[in-house]
Amino acid sequence: MKNIIIFGAPGSGKGTYSDEIVKRYDMGHISTGDVLRGEIKNGTELGKLAKGYIDNGQLIPDELMIDILANTYDAQEPGKGVIFDGFPRTIAQAEALKAMLAKRGHDMGVMIELIVDEETLLSRLLKRAIEQGRDDDNEETIKKRFAVYHSQTEPLSKWFEAEGIRYAFTWKGSKDVMLGEIFDFLDGLK
Ligand code: ATP
Ligand code: MG
Repeated sequence: MKNIIIFGAPGSGKGTYSDEIVKRYDMGHISTGDVLRGEIKNGTELGKLAKGYIDNGQLIPDELMIDILANTYDAQEPGKGVIFDGFPRTIAQAEALKAMLAKRGHDMGVMIELIVDEETLLSRLLKRAIEQGRDDDNEETIKKRFAVYHSQTEPLSKWFEAEGIRYAFTWKGSKDVMLGEIFDFLDGLK
């Protein structure tokens, strides 16, 4: 499979759909949120730095994120497509991703945008707060993450559109329906 960038607001299901896509197409998976939470868990310097931003609903600075992403990408099994989950989140990150891949003779593949109404997003994140106990899934931080998403990340949708690789899927109340639409699209690419 080609590379895939999965894109959407907090709680849009990037991680959930990525896991299903990885299983079906045998791909690599880079979740920058999971990478950062791993660093926090291991008590690394990077983790300590990242925690301050994450707990505040803010993004980790671009230069740092871009380094982490390149290192994680180079550690993937070669020859398989990779799904990028949670990256890029800013125009600078998108430009850096494109350049990093081009340098290696690779390309961004396709971008899948998950479009979900904000009421559904909020209820999912509050449910996840109870189930998984993520420190940033409380109402105050969620509001900040939505604001950051709208100001810094959402403009990327047009950036990908201009690259000619944006494909949008809208939530209509069923995970199976959404997943079916995504699989039909990806099956058609192979
Ligand atoms: P979901 O996975 O449900 O869509 P999410 O997008 O809020 O939720 P993660 O992608 O796990 O969650 O990210 C959690 C936090 O990690 C972000 O709020 C941000 O602070 C930090 N983070 C993750 N990826 C990046 C990135 N590419 N650039 C900057 N910060 C990031
Ligand atoms: Mg996630």
